[in-house]
Amino acid sequence: MTTTDIKAAGETEERLKRVGALLEGHFQLTSGLHSNRYVQCAKLLSLPQEAEAVSRALADRFSNVKVDIVLGPALGGVIVAHEVARALGTPCLFTERKEGEMQLRRGFEIPKGSQVLVVEDVVTTGGSVKEVLQLVRDAGGEIVGVGSIVQRAASSPFDVRYEALLALQVTAWDPSECPLCAEGSAPVKPGSRPGS
Ligand code: ZN
Repeated sequence: MTTTDIKAAGETEERLKRVGALLEGHFQLTSGLHSNRYVQCAKLLSLPQEAEAVSRALADRFSNVKVDIVLGPALGGVIVAHEVARALGTPCLFTERKEGEMQLRRGFEIPKGSQVLVVEDVVTTGGSVKEVLQLVRDAGGEIVGVGSIVQRAASSPFDVRYEALLALQVTAWDPSECPLCAEGSAPVKPGSRPGS
């Protein structure tokens, strides 16, 4: 990590916190697990100026390579792909899942030999992105790398260059083993309003 990368990580964390997209406390996740942190990148990306700023920082990481197309998986990757593509001056495409399979639809095409940058908002297991990488390879495109705003995976799940603005390890516990429950606090479901 360079000094610039560390600065970018700090700035990204600040941005997420400022807009309430990164919460600290005691949460019950959709999976049923409990956690002390919760990140909802969509809340940051809902603000166009914030989306532009973080995506520009991500695009900067790839300014030393030739990029022909920026591609992201729907839904999380669409706004990031759009803003990174704007910063790099390339088209923005997105993939979407149809009957379980990741596809390029709407007349989108990856010409053979295109240099493709794949972006996502948050990488947790990297499953969706891996499907996008396969799709690009099948189309005869070349992967420049993968970029995300937040990396939740402990290490890169990809076999190509991977850049994330903020590495954010979120610990999750089974409710029976949750230290916060053991301390007597009750978890909240993120996104639900207090009292509702
Ligand atoms: Zn708990």
